[in-house]
Amino acid sequence: MRTLKKTVAIGNVTIGGNNKIVVQSMTKTKTREVRKTINQIQRLEKAGCELVRLAVVNKEDAAALGYIKKRVSIPIIADIHFDYRLALASIDQGVHKIRINPGNIGETNKIEQIIKKAKEHNTPIRIGINSGSLPKSILKKYEHPTPTAIIETLSDILATFYKNNFDNIVISAKGAAVKDTISTYETINKRFNFPLHIGITEAGLPFRGGIKSGVGLGILLNKGIGDTIRVSLTADPVMEVIAGYEILNALGLRQHGPILISCPTCGRCEVKLEKIVHAVENRLKGYKNFMKVAVMGCVVNGPGEASEADFGIACGKGIGAIFAKAKEIKRVKETKLVETLFELIDENINN
Ligand code: SF4
Repeated sequence: MRTLKKTVAIGNVTIGGNNKIVVQSMTKTKTREVRKTINQIQRLEKAGCELVRLAVVNKEDAAALGYIKKRVSIPIIADIHFDYRLALASIDQGVHKIRINPGNIGETNKIEQIIKKAKEHNTPIRIGINSGSLPKSILKKYEHPTPTAIIETLSDILATFYKNNFDNIVISAKGAAVKDTISTYETINKRFNFPLHIGITEAGLPFRGGIKSGVGLGILLNKGIGDTIRVSLTADPVMEVIAGYEILNALGLRQHGPILISCPTCGRCEVKLEKIVHAVENRLKGYKNFMKVAVMGCVVNGPGEASEADFGIACGKGIGAIFAKAKEIKRVKETKLVETLFELIDENINN
């Protein structure tokens, strides 16, 4: 059962409450290189990204935000570390949200200046606690960035926000390990009513990173925790968006784009199934509709194993069956399988 949090509007995207769980990513360009940054955001938009965060590491990055904002259609978020003045400059540029890491912004009066400016512009703030950058006093007390140390850091910083009557807040708090992150978010979810940005930090290359994020985010989302997700991968950010939707689709929390199912193959398989699966996957990139497409290695078990699929192929020896909803529609030569599958898909959906 989803925990319903206070809602927060980030431009035209609202998170929290009963709103859909939003998929976000982060650009990997230097923000000040505006053409590259805009191109990357436009590619992310095309992939279904709903919010995008940009690193603001100096004044030039901050100064570019207003220009970028006008040329993209999803809300932009400024990611700030260390220098509170960059947060002030980003808000002045009209960003839709800022993310600060209180562990490295410094004294309370700097945080208060950010809060004051955010209030004036009605800009939400994500308080993003990271196990790698907890305040020294907390680390001294707990020795390690434990979930308790993270929660104490969060409670301390929230006290400043409460004192300044600011509640336009999103929270994230990432631990070093998946289990720590899960237990930290479970506690935060019980104690605070702000929408949660969830993610597994420094997850890795797509294969391992995707698995780690799938496990961590999957467990949290299945417990009803999380209002927006980012899958962090050492890869093209478009991969993060694809992975995010895979996780949400798998849990039935969103229905976004086609889902490709394929069998692992076994001794019954008489074709190069991997090649066929790649061909189908490539062609599916051009489709936006939510549908399940199965590519199975044999006619014996294929349609039955993929009975949930809307469309599919069950391969044979030199010939294969095209099926829809577990019913065989027609048999065609192996070389015509992919083409015939897409003819059937095109006849039945409006993409
Ligand atoms: Fe084996 Fe056929 Fe099942 Fe694929 S669909 S795993 S080839 S039995």
